[in-house]
Amino acid sequence: MISYQFMEHGKPLQKVMQETPTPQGTEVLVRITRSGVCHSDLHIWDGYFDWGGGKKFYVKDRGCVPPFTLGHEPFGVVEAFGKKAKGVKVGQKKLVFPWIGCGKCAVCKAGNDNYCVSGSRFLGVNRPGAYSTHVLVPDPKYLIDTAGIDDSFAATLACSAVTAYSAANKLPELNKGDSVAVLGCGGLGLIAISVLRARGATTIVACDIDDTKLAAAQKLGARKTVNTRAPDALQQMQGAAAAIDFVGSPATAALGIAALRKGGRYVLCGLYGGELTHPLPPIAQRAIGIVGSYVGSLQELKEVVALAKKGKLKPMPVETRPAADVNGALEDLKAGRVVGRVVLDFEEVAA
Ligand SMILES: [Zn+2]
Ligand SMILES: [Zn+2]
Repeated sequence: MISYQFMEHGKPLQKVMQETPTPQGTEVLVRITRSGVCHSDLHIWDGYFDWGGGKKFYVKDRGCVPPFTLGHEPFGVVEAFGKKAKGVKVGQKKLVFPWIGCGKCAVCKAGNDNYCVSGSRFLGVNRPGAYSTHVLVPDPKYLIDTAGIDDSFAATLACSAVTAYSAANKLPELNKGDSVAVLGCGGLGLIAISVLRARGATTIVACDIDDTKLAAAQKLGARKTVNTRAPDALQQMQGAAAAIDFVGSPATAALGIAALRKGGRYVLCGLYGGELTHPLPPIAQRAIGIVGSYVGSLQELKEVVALAKKGKLKPMPVETRPAADVNGALEDLKAGRVVGRVVLDFEEVAA
């Protein structure tokens, strides 16, 4: 198999030929045809998350040590499987749920692999990911049929859409006219607008520093757009029942929390970095909620796929590029030049 790996954090990915693994037991070998490029890939590539105040969290401390293969939006075709793998056939096209836990702890058994407390096996995070012609999946239960959905868009459901969907599950109950602010209109923010629309939210306020991204947000159904560089950005957002922050910087957190009306909820998904300082009394006095959300569960991904199959999820712009352009794709994402999602096409990469 051929994988694009970084040998050192921050250095260009290299094309590496390795032996294709043979699936054992319940394992399934998936030949990757599409692989989404996510903003969090940039952090893993860099090797750390910025915790603010000069502190960093190094990804090596959670098992990501170079040489490493990124990619947590895997889509492909079943190529082989172990003797104990049930309900799967060679040649089936499948989306791969990448947020795989240990499968044994109480949290995993309750269906929340994404919050596993004892040894997660997240593809492209601490296990080899989908910037590769092949990926080994521990069990067929992590494979989802997406028939009828465009392959490239289907790939993006595995992280961007399920992350947005899980964040939406953490919102307070919305009444007619309640506004939800979406901070950051990159791939996640844009699909979040589609997800919120599909779930019946009508008043979505899209916020970004880039007018091109705001225009894309409007096309997907945002009622109002706010360029957060405007001096009156906060006034324009004020009174929100909820804010979902897909950036996660001190500036967006401050804005998202300040924009809430009493009883509102701020949901943090973005991993940009920094730290939160906020006076304590108003959190109680305004009865606001501050909650984090990280990717989503297998059940949530199945629900997102079902929405997309029914045509209820308007796709954000998705650009499919040859896998060999992986470094260009990462650079473009880093520079803010990507509107929506870039998905790598692995079909031309000789296995
Ligand atoms: Zn992601
Ligand atoms: Zn677990």
